[in-house]
Amino acid sequence: MEPRLFIFDLDGVIYRGEEPMPYAAETVQRLRAEGKLVRFLTNNSALTRESYVRRLTQMDIPCTEEDFMTSAYATALYLQSQGATGKRVFIVGEEGIYEELRRIGMKAVTDPEEEGADYVVAGIDRSFTYDKLRRAHYAIWHGARFIATNRDATYPASGGRIVPGGGAIVAAIATCTGVEPLVIGKPNTYSMELLLQRCGVSPQEAVLVGDRLDTDVLVGKRAGLHTVLVLTGVTDEEAVRSAPEEMLPERVIRTLAEL
Ligand SMILES: [Mg+2]
Repeated sequence: MEPRLFIFDLDGVIYRGEEPMPYAAETVQRLRAEGKLVRFLTNNSALTRESYVRRLTQMDIPCTEEDFMTSAYATALYLQSQGATGKRVFIVGEEGIYEELRRIGMKAVTDPEEEGADYVVAGIDRSFTYDKLRRAHYAIWHGARFIATNRDATYPASGGRIVPGGGAIVAAIATCTGVEPLVIGKPNTYSMELLLQRCGVSPQEAVLVGDRLDTDVLVGKRAGLHTVLVLTGVTDEEAVRSAPEEMLPERVIRTLAEL
C-alpha cells in the first residue's frame, strides 16, 4: 500500500536546537507536492504548538497547530477524557505543559501542601530544582495521580550535543515516591493513535520517521506503521546493530534526502 501519511519526530529529525537538519524543508515540501499528508509527533513537552508553528515556519516549513501532536497536548487530551477539567495540577515542566493544561481548564498550583493537587504532570523542566521535586513528592504521597508526558532519557541539541531529557526528571520523582507514572508520550501508542484518527489514515498507510529506537521506532512498530530511522539525532549505526527486534526499523537513512 502506498503511504499517504508521513509522521516526523522533531528533535534530531527536523532540527537540533536552533539548527534545521539537512533536507528537512525540502523533504516536507516534496512529500506535500506528491499529495502526502505530513504531521509532526514530538515527545518534547517544552513548547506550545503555537511555538512549534513559529519555529518550523522560520525553517521554511509552513504549518499550522493542527499539524502537531506533542506529548503535552496528548497529555491534556487524555486528562480531559478523564474529566480533569477544573482539577488542580502540580506541574514539573515548561510552557508547553502549562499552556495545554490551562486550555483544558485545569488549575496549576504552585504549592500542593497549601492548595492540594489532584495530579502531578511531569516532563522536561530546564529549571528543575530540589524544591520542585519535594513538592511533587508531597503531592503524590497525598494522593495526586502521577502522569509523565514522556520518559526520553536524552534529546539531541545543537552542536552535536546530547542533553538530559524529560525522562531524567520523571525518574527523580519516581525514585523518591516509589510510584511509576502513566506515560502518555511515545512509546505509548496513545498520541500516535490520536494523530492517525484525526488524519483518517490506517497505520499501514503511514510512515513514522524518527531518531530514537526506544520511542519512535518502538511506537511505530507497536502501532503497525512503517518505520524509518534517521541517523541525524541520538542514534548511531552501532546502536542500531545492537537493537532488540522490537526496536529495529524497516529502513535506516543517513539524512532525510534518502527518504
Ligand atoms: Mg527525536
